[in-house]
Amino acid sequence: MLKNKKKYLNFALLFEIMKTKLIKTIGVLTSGGDAPGMNAAIRAVVRTGLSFGLEVYGVYRGYNGLIENDMIKMESKSVGNIIQRGGTILKTARSKEFMTKEGRQSAYENLKARGIEGLVIIGGDGSFKGANIFSSEFNIPCIGIPGTIDKDMAGTDFTIGFDTAINTAVSAIDKIRDTADAHNRLFIVEVMGRDAGYIALYSGIATGAENILIPENKTNISRLIQDLSNKEKRQKAVNLIVVAEGDEYGGANNVAETLRASMLTTEIKVCILGHIQRGGSPSCLDRIIASRMGFHAVECLIFGFSNLMVGIVNNEMCFTPFEKAVKETQTISRDWFKLIKRLTR
Ligand code: ATP
Repeated sequence: MLKNKKKYLNFALLFEIMKTKLIKTIGVLTSGGDAPGMNAAIRAVVRTGLSFGLEVYGVYRGYNGLIENDMIKMESKSVGNIIQRGGTILKTARSKEFMTKEGRQSAYENLKARGIEGLVIIGGDGSFKGANIFSSEFNIPCIGIPGTIDKDMAGTDFTIGFDTAINTAVSAIDKIRDTADAHNRLFIVEVMGRDAGYIALYSGIATGAENILIPENKTNISRLIQDLSNKEKRQKAVNLIVVAEGDEYGGANNVAETLRASMLTTEIKVCILGHIQRGGSPSCLDRIIASRMGFHAVECLIFGFSNLMVGIVNNEMCFTPFEKAVKETQTISRDWFKLIKRLTR
């Protein structure tokens, strides 16, 4: 990690560097799944770039916009009144063409024609894999900002969108719990997370779920049934289990079907929260981390860095090479499961 590598560079030195004009024009794009807070990051990149005298292009629809030359020169007002909006004003996409050498060649030619010398990519690990390959093939400096609701990346404590997504999930699950409690029903609530269980973990703990099933942990369904039956005998009100969509047992419907066959007295319902977890106005935390990351991403390009993901670890800026950021994921320690077990007795 290149933690705090830039600290010795002060603003006076920055302006000296700017006089030699290492980089004049940059582009910014959003790629992969959308996440609330991406607009705040775009705003930070555009305004920081302009304030240092750079030209800044917004690229539409992720890597597709590079390939199809769908870009627009951004001004300060282009990013006015967007910090509070979910989604992304630049749109996002998954680009099959960018996976090919021909696609990336077209992207490079379009960038060259406009004089764009560096890119800020706001997206997940797939987007950074693409940026890493592109940068090494065509020598275009790329800096990544982690924008994904899953919080599944190493090198940062938070990814843009995660905080908003868990708060959306918590507020929905609280409502479900009210009705579950009124009818004495057990709800199996499915939240997003194909490969990572952080949304389930945080929202499950925050709503007092009896159990939380996530891809990182083997699901022992017979132990779960035993645990629920014991609680049933003790007449403990059991209203809620939170399941990540990528749980090895196959999501909420499969879990509910198995439980229904074993628990005769309890009525079991399923609720799949789905895409509401991606939308909505970003939380304060997501706006703040997006603003900090956007600012530092542009600084990285100005200082001549490339192929780094900007992150925040222990509230300090942290810079991780793409190779490391895409290979490693944040692990979930066993302590979390001890906590859940103790709190749901
Ligand atoms: P999310 O976490 O929301 O899924 P992501 O950035 O991981 O976001 P992906 O669909 O994995 O989303 O990747 C986004 C885009 O990055 C892909 O559609 C593709 O254009 C590009 N990309 C991913 N992997 C590669 C690769 N190996 N080579 C070139 N481009 C890639």
